[in-house]
Amino acid sequence: MDLANCTVCGRLFARSIHSVCSDCLNAEEDDFEKIRVYLRENDAPDLADISSATGVAETRILSFLRSGRLISTGSLSYPCSSCGEMIQTGTICAVCRVKNQLIFDQVSQSLRKVDGSKRNSYYSKHRDTNS
Ligand SMILES: [Zn+2]
Ligand SMILES: [Zn+2]
Repeated sequence: MDLANCTVCGRLFARSIHSVCSDCLNAEEDDFEKIRVYLRENDAPDLADISSATGVAETRILSFLRSGRLISTGSLSYPCSSCGEMIQTGTICAVCRVKNQLIFDQVSQSLRKVDGSKRNSYYSKHRDTNS
């Protein structure tokens, strides 16, 4: 049997597809249910409201929201994980998404350049041996 330490409580447990033990997993399910019920009955709460009403830590509510498991309703918003701008869906705001896309494009462009120069040197070598 493969044992692992629960990432939440640190207890040893039989490793499964989850990185937390069954106790913590159940506690998480309970928390999620509490938030879901609270959101159904309250129209526009903020994180602090939900946290104090349900006793669930804001960080856990955030992780539910960022993983997409909990869908923001009404005016519920939370900070972008990159710049702190308030958002209602996903993990980062629209601005950061564009910024990340630009960085991604730059990286893939420079990767293409590396690729191209490799190919060029191959062809020039090839030509040299032919001539
Ligand atoms: Zn645990
Ligand atoms: Zn942002």
